[in-house]
Amino acid sequence: MPSQIPIQEGLFTWPSEEPRLLGSRCCGCGEVSFPVQKSCPACTGDETEAIPLAREGTLWTWTIQRFPPPAPPFIGDRESFEPFGVGYVELAEGVRVESRLTVNDPAQLEIGMKMELVVEPFDRDADGNERMLFAFRPAAAA
Ligand SMILES: [Zn+2]
Repeated sequence: MPSQIPIQEGLFTWPSEEPRLLGSRCCGCGEVSFPVQKSCPACTGDETEAIPLAREGTLWTWTIQRFPPPAPPFIGDRESFEPFGVGYVELAEGVRVESRLTVNDPAQLEIGMKMELVVEPFDRDADGNERMLFAFRPAAAA
């Protein structure tokens, strides 16, 4: 039976009512990274622990992707492409996460606004399973 599967293992907790991105924290200097890093990008220490990240953050910067990205990695139907928002969301841990945004209307996006993590269907694989991808939405829309 087709089901919902994460687009990539280890990126976020799924299935979950309140999905969280999975990051890593350096046991040496405390630097937090996303996605999980085996060694610390700040101090090159090789001891890190996986941690769930905050579900909310602030919009650090954003843009609207108006054209289909090159294929690969773009695998969708170029005819039905719809512009989508993409941005960096800064989480409480201080890490900035590059993410798809749920809105593509510039009037609804403002640097510094509160954003909230959601997991939504992205596309389907050959077996008909819905592949799930994380995105951020304006927290006010919740
Ligand atoms: Zn470190």
